Amino acid sequence: MKILVTGGAGYIGSVTSELLLDQGFDVIVFDNFERGHRSAIDKRARLIEGDLRDRGKIEQSMLEVKPDAVMHFAAYALVGESMTDPEKYMDNNVNGGLNLARAMLRADVGKIVFSSTCATYGAPEQVPITEDEKQSPENPYGESKLMFEKALNWYHRIHGMQTVFLRYFNASGATSKFGEDHDPETHLIPLVLKTALGKRESISILGEDYATPDGTCIRDYIHIVDLAQAHIEAVTRDVSGAFNLGNGNGYSVKEVIDIARLVTGREIRTVSAERRPGDPPQLIAAANKARTELGWRPRFPDLATIIESAWDWHQRFPDGYGC
Ligand code: UDP
Repeated sequence: MKILVTGGAGYIGSVTSELLLDQGFDVIVFDNFERGHRSAIDKRARLIEGDLRDRGKIEQSMLEVKPDAVMHFAAYALVGESMTDPEKYMDNNVNGGLNLARAMLRADVGKIVFSSTCATYGAPEQVPITEDEKQSPENPYGESKLMFEKALNWYHRIHGMQTVFLRYFNASGATSKFGEDHDPETHLIPLVLKTALGKRESISILGEDYATPDGTCIRDYIHIVDLAQAHIEAVTRDVSGAFNLGNGNGYSVKEVIDIARLVTGREIRTVSAERRPGDPPQLIAAANKARTELGWRPRFPDLATIIESAWDWHQRFPDGYGC
């Protein structure tokens, strides 16, 4: 199968491309390199440099490549940034997505696996969160992903396009080749590990007064390799619909830091800081649907194993892709 991977130079796109290539797929990466890295593109992949907001470019690329399916990762993905610049999120994540869907229709490409998020649920009424939970985003990032899910639902109903929404919980960890390197970095695990490496003085705990047992936010961390494999299960099955991707285990910010101390053997200084706007207190997946309907079996559910893989990558690439 030939897969067009938008955002293949980003964190999740790079690892998914690597796994696809390992498993015999043809991969064509479409990326604008605004946030991705050239060295995060697997050497076995073909590259098209382009931006989804450029409608002509994606239409022409789609017609030329004629993939069997699209995996769509290219998007802005920072909750905090979306709270200060919502237009930017709507433009890239919604308009860019619509350009992609239109190009797929034109080129008769009938399947998309879309990188969605648990941020589409907002602060859930029930934890663990099932796919039937009310979707009520608390930030423009989650809203932009939900808007594109809704648009794709109509492509499914009207045009018969197979549409899979993978709602990620907290992607983390690394392969031996590719890992997490954002600029600026805002994610907890890479920031904790940069602190362990001595590249940062301390890690800020963003809010200690949430209604959780230790007062810090709880998240469900999932190994990037397990996340990537779920895309392959989704693309090879005759299926549409929404699937949560998480392990069903919640860890607080303080617990993540404690496990990182054990894994790294380093002290890791913390400081208390204000809550980050848009952060729900607790996000934990009920991920049974992906197991039963996609046959997905996470291989690395243990948080220490996930952090170990990230620590190994950060030690080998202390300056990320910049080194
Ligand atoms: N967090 C933190 N300090 C940081 C970065 C993140 O305490 O420097 C917290 C954040 O408030 C959230 C959790 O760690 O509760 C995970 O944040 P991250 O940005 O990694 O992922 P998100 O859940 O926002 O997608």
